Amino acid sequence: MSKGTTEIGYVNRNDQEVIRRTDEPGTDHMQKVYVLRCRPCGAEYGANGSDIHIRLCPSCAGGRPGLAYAA
Ligand SMILES: [Zn+2]
Repeated sequence: MSKGTTEIGYVNRNDQEVIRRTDEPGTDHMQKVYVLRCRPCGAEYGANGSDIHIRLCPSCAGGRPGLAYAA
């Protein structure tokens, strides 16, 4: 996994920003769930650390549904 994409404040090419890490297990090998926020619409959703760089917003861009995490 490349360094940087799981850092708070990282923004991917789809304008999805990392806002925090959770302790929830993700669905990919050895991953944790990170909370992303869509900058265009403000939606927040969970994603595997390994997926952050390719995530699309599930609310406004047709991305896959977010992963569950404790609020
Ligand atoms: Zn959005």
